[in-house]
Amino acid sequence: HYQPEDTRLYHFYSQEILDIFFRKVILETDLHYALDRNEFQLYYQPQVNAITGKVICVEALIRWKHPEYGMIPPAEFIPIAEESGFIIPLGEWILKTACTQIQTLQSVVNNLNIAVNISACQLKTANFSEKIMEIITETGIAPELLELELTETIFIQDIESVKQKLTALSNQGIKISIDDFGTGYSSFKYLQEFSFHNLKIERYFISNIDHFKNKQALVKSIIQTADNLKLNIIAEGVETKKELDWLINNNCEIVQGYFFSPPLSIEELKKFLSRNNS
Ligand code: C2E
Ligand code: MG
Ligand code: MG
Ligand code: MG
Repeated sequence: HYQPEDTRLYHFYSQEILDIFFRKVILETDLHYALDRNEFQLYYQPQVNAITGKVICVEALIRWKHPEYGMIPPAEFIPIAEESGFIIPLGEWILKTACTQIQTLQSVVNNLNIAVNISACQLKTANFSEKIMEIITETGIAPELLELELTETIFIQDIESVKQKLTALSNQGIKISIDDFGTGYSSFKYLQEFSFHNLKIERYFISNIDHFKNKQALVKSIIQTADNLKLNIIAEGVETKKELDWLINNNCEIVQGYFFSPPLSIEELKKFLSRNNS
C-alpha cells in the first residue's frame, strides 16, 4: 500500500528511468488514437541500381508525428505496437497506403517496386497470406511489384507455417526479402530451404567497409552465397563513395542509403524520380 512518506521508489529509480517508463506508457496509449488522427506518414527510400543509376524499388518507412513529442522513430514505437498487438491494424494501414501510393508513381517510373517491412507478429497471424492478397485486390497493384521485408526473427517461429505462408505468397508473384541479414538468427540452412528473392545486407557490415578487412571478407562471402543461390543482393546504409566503389567492384550493384537519398515524403520522392529516372 502506497504512503506519501514512502520514498523507496526514489531510492531505486532515478527520475530519468521514471521518465523513460512514463513516456512508454503514454506512447502506448497514444498509439491507439494515432491512426484515426492521421499522425502516421510513410516515407520512401530509393533502392538504386548503381550501374544504370535507375531506381528499381522504394522501401516504405513509417514515421509518427506525435502532437507533443514530435517525430518518434519507428525503432521506438514499433516494438511498443508489437507488444500491444496494435501492429496488426497498423501493419494493414502501412500495406494499404504503400500499395496505393506506389500506383501513383507508375507513370513516373514503370514497374517501380515497393518494399514493405513486415513484423514477425504480422506473419504469425493465421490469415496473413489471405490478408495480403486481399489488399492486393483492393488496391489493384500487380503482385510482382510488392516485396515483403522480413527479418531473421521469423526463423524462431513455427518454421513449417512460415514456409507455407511465404510459399503461397511467392506463388502469387510477391517477392520476399531478408532484411538486416547477418545480425540475427541467420542460418545458411534457411537460405537454401526457403525461396527468398532478395537478401539485404545489414548497414553495420557496409559502414566503412573500405577500411575493414574482416567486413570485406564477410560481405564477399555473403555476396558469393547469394549469387550461388540466385538471390539478389542489396546493400543497406551506403553513405560514402568509397563504400559504393567497394561494393560495385565486388559485384553488389543494388544499393540503398544516404549516399543516394534519405527516406523521402511521397512528394519529395516524385521529384527525385522525375529527376533521376528520366
Ligand atoms: P530497416 O527496415 O532495416 O530500415 C532501414 C533503416 O536504416 C531506416 O531507418 C532508414 O532510414 C535507415 N537508413 C537508410 N539509409 C541509411 C544510411 O545511409 N545511414 C544510416 N545511418 N541509416 C540509414 P528507420 O526509418 O528509422 O527504420 C528503422 C527500422 O524500423 C527499420 O529498419 C524497420 O525494422 C523498422 N520499420 C520502419 N518502418 C517500418 C514499418 O512500416 N513496419 C515495420 N514493421 N517496421 C518498420
Ligand atoms: Mg527494411
Ligand atoms: Mg534493414
Ligand atoms: Mg533494421
